[in-house]
Amino acid sequence: MQIPLQDSAYIDLHIHSTASDGSLTPVEIIETAKKAGLRAIAITDHDTLDGSVEALQYQHSSGIEILPGIEISANFDFGTMHILGYLIRLDDVSLRQTLKVIQEGRASRNIQIIKRLQGLGIDISHDEVSEASGGGQIGRPHIAQVLVNKRIVQNIDEAFNKFLRKGRPAYVKRYRLAPAEAIQAILRAGGVPVLAHPFTLNEKTEGGLDRILADLKQDGLKGVEVYYPDHGPDLTAQYQRLAHRHELLMTGGTDFHGTAKPGVYIGIGKGELRIPYRLVEALKQSASQTPS
Ligand code: AMP
Ligand code: FE
Ligand code: FE
Ligand code: ZN
Repeated sequence: MQIPLQDSAYIDLHIHSTASDGSLTPVEIIETAKKAGLRAIAITDHDTLDGSVEALQYQHSSGIEILPGIEISANFDFGTMHILGYLIRLDDVSLRQTLKVIQEGRASRNIQIIKRLQGLGIDISHDEVSEASGGGQIGRPHIAQVLVNKRIVQNIDEAFNKFLRKGRPAYVKRYRLAPAEAIQAILRAGGVPVLAHPFTLNEKTEGGLDRILADLKQDGLKGVEVYYPDHGPDLTAQYQRLAHRHELLMTGGTDFHGTAKPGVYIGIGKGELRIPYRLVEALKQSASQTPS
């Protein structure tokens, strides 16, 4: 990884809390990040601002910088496209309205997944899933957790591979924004839209990624998540190149989910990640240029 050695303050800009499918509350995340010696974090829950809203209440008392964040799933037929949004206005009416529509689509999809599992002869109820979510937004990882608890599968991965992922019998598509809509929703809320973990697009060639990034940039994309636990040295270098070529800023984070994603730790990912604070400065500069 080409990070200069003089960087000594580190960050983690991709963290999930109990407001979506993470296992730590925002407060527990802040405490863990402080123990890890991080200077800044962002809680980027799937399709909800609740995690960031709660975390921001501790901005002043916590002694760590907390950037408002979110992660929005976009429609992309060939793979998974997630758009991170940083420094958004958390009270933005238009963004909140958009998220409400997404959340309703998610809720009706969850009911259909549970029905499908029941149709496969599995004893599972919405109440059990709701309990597994701890009161936050329900996602497939919570359904997977119930399947693990009931020993129908051995672990979360097996639940996805057997039942929940695309192409499996309990998979149900949910309403998603088009990439341009997700990007615009973030821009309208004064935020900085960033393409999350580009490898999940399933586009292996640099030329293909070039075209996707050119399109997303046209739509208003401002950055790429370059530093990520699953990006080895080659992918990291490729994403750095792409970011330079398309004049996109670079971000990084661990995608920490706690027990829902074992072996990934706040700030360090699988152990080696160190993401320098200077990336936050570029983000702030970009946000200050977004018309409000
Ligand atoms: P949902 O937002 O409800 O569609 O659930 C998607 C979330 O499930 C992702 O953000 C991941 O946290 C998790 N996930 C997706 N695929 C897998 C997998 N194969 N194994 C474990 N977790 C997964
Ligand atoms: Fe997740
Ligand atoms: Fe993601
Ligand atoms: Zn994530």
